[in-house]
Amino acid sequence: MKDTKEPKVNCANCEWSWEVKDGGDDLFTCHECGHVNSPKNITENKNIIKRFLREEINLQITDESPDTISILVEYNDRNAGIIMIAEANADNTLEIVGVKFKKDYETVFILNEAVKSLWGMFKETNDLIVAPKPEGISFWNKLGFNRISPEYLILSRGH
Ligand SMILES: [Zn+2]
Repeated sequence: MKDTKEPKVNCANCEWSWEVKDGGDDLFTCHECGHVNSPKNITENKNIIKRFLREEINLQITDESPDTISILVEYNDRNAGIIMIAEANADNTLEIVGVKFKKDYETVFILNEAVKSLWGMFKETNDLIVAPKPEGISFWNKLGFNRISPEYLILSRGH
């Protein structure tokens, strides 16, 4: 039996299926019946689907006060939320002082991509710290932040 772990497109119109890696430029067109399928007909691997659907995070500084910088996070051109950061009392360290995301957008994936973009935006920064409420700690752990004190979690560049 053939290895079925490879992601495949399963034609919605006939029995034909083919591996994504063999799909070429017309990945979703069935060469058996001509039906044009869509990414939802890909099975086996959700990560592959993500690659075909555009997932783009853009950060934009919207407000810069002496204390706080507000950064608008856009997900696929939609306003997903705002991250507020401030300089911490340590060299090359920024503190995430606020995260206000729209309900559906507060996901590990989006936050993780946004944090990655922060590194690009603030090139001098080596560490990000955050002091979440107790119930939020596991969420930040998922993003790679580790506890450094009873209140603070830290993520270092290149983590
Ligand atoms: Zn077909």
